[in-house]
Amino acid sequence: MSTKIVHIKGVKIGGGNAIVIQSMTNTDTADYKATAQQIIELADAGSEIVRITVNNPEAAEAVPEIRVILDEAGYKDLPLVGDFHYNGHTLLEDYPQMAQDLDKYRINPGNVGFGDKHEYNFSKICKIAAQLHKPVRIGINWGSLDQDLLTEMMDANTDNSDREVIIAAMVESALRSITLAEKEGLTDIILSVKMSELPDMVRAYELLHSKNTGYPLHLGLTEAGSGAKGLISSSAALAILLNQGIGDTIRISLTPKPGESRTQEVAACKQLLQSLGLRQFAPQVTSCPGCGRTGSNFFQELTDLVEKHLITNHPTQKDLKVAVMGCVVNGPGESKHADIGISIPGKMEKPIAPVYIAGKLHKTLTGENIPEQFLKIVDDYVAGIN
Ligand code: SF4
Repeated sequence: MSTKIVHIKGVKIGGGNAIVIQSMTNTDTADYKATAQQIIELADAGSEIVRITVNNPEAAEAVPEIRVILDEAGYKDLPLVGDFHYNGHTLLEDYPQMAQDLDKYRINPGNVGFGDKHEYNFSKICKIAAQLHKPVRIGINWGSLDQDLLTEMMDANTDNSDREVIIAAMVESALRSITLAEKEGLTDIILSVKMSELPDMVRAYELLHSKNTGYPLHLGLTEAGSGAKGLISSSAALAILLNQGIGDTIRISLTPKPGESRTQEVAACKQLLQSLGLRQFAPQVTSCPGCGRTGSNFFQELTDLVEKHLITNHPTQKDLKVAVMGCVVNGPGESKHADIGISIPGKMEKPIAPVYIAGKLHKTLTGENIPEQFLKIVDDYVAGIN
């Protein structure tokens, strides 16, 4: 965790505050209505900061329109971040209302110009940010790593593997960018060193963390992919770092399958933080995978029913843990560790379902309507009746 806290509207990043969830739109920002709509969907799903592409004059002009829609729709406190590459230094100067309406800028030092222009353009963005009191994320991405710096470091480190030099160059790019930014009076800085290979990304963040810059770190595995691959790779990478106390804000970048909602990446962040015990968002169901001892599909159906019931009827019970177990092997034990647990009879077991509350046997259910009886016990527990 960082020593410095960066404030973005009411959101606090770093300094031991809760890990903040971020996401990014994939609409054309110039289409301000569609973009505002997607921002609202992401915010409703739980994204605490939303980033949008600002890549051309049309997108820059759309930002104030988006802000108005968000404010009128009741999202005044939602921080909006502008993602700049190549032309951020001119857009921020040419569109002052856009510069004002954004709450944070993301700059990629590898994409701000080459040679002499690199430092000039980067410094110009930092100067505008400092004048307007806007935080900046210095977002290094290995796909667009500063090639001049990489060449310099490759030449100076011929004994090390290319991979090691690239990781070191990612971190060096962040450190040099901090120096330039601070020279312009910028002190609200967030850092990221995103890579697409999990072990490299983890090493880059560990190395950056060891430099003790004091600035918060935004974690993300870039180009993680879609579906199970994207989810598992991102979760594994972020979990390794978060478990070491590295990271203050996260994004799980997923390529949505055609027609899939963008909000999936927010749901993934929430589940990751909850699974790591870092934040609570929703009641959780512990269920076994089922096996040859599971008598029928009844166990799967009950698990699904309980999950839906909790989300629909008790969404605010964020600490609640309910166990649904498929047989006597681990059922009673696991059930006792949950707030409420039920152990369904497996194959050849007596047709009874013991229910445990706070580790003690509460009742043994029998008959045809075990699901209804169990949900009633859950509802009573939440209402403080049993
Ligand atoms: S609790 Fe029982 S049904 Fe569930 S996985 Fe374990 S042995 Fe199988």
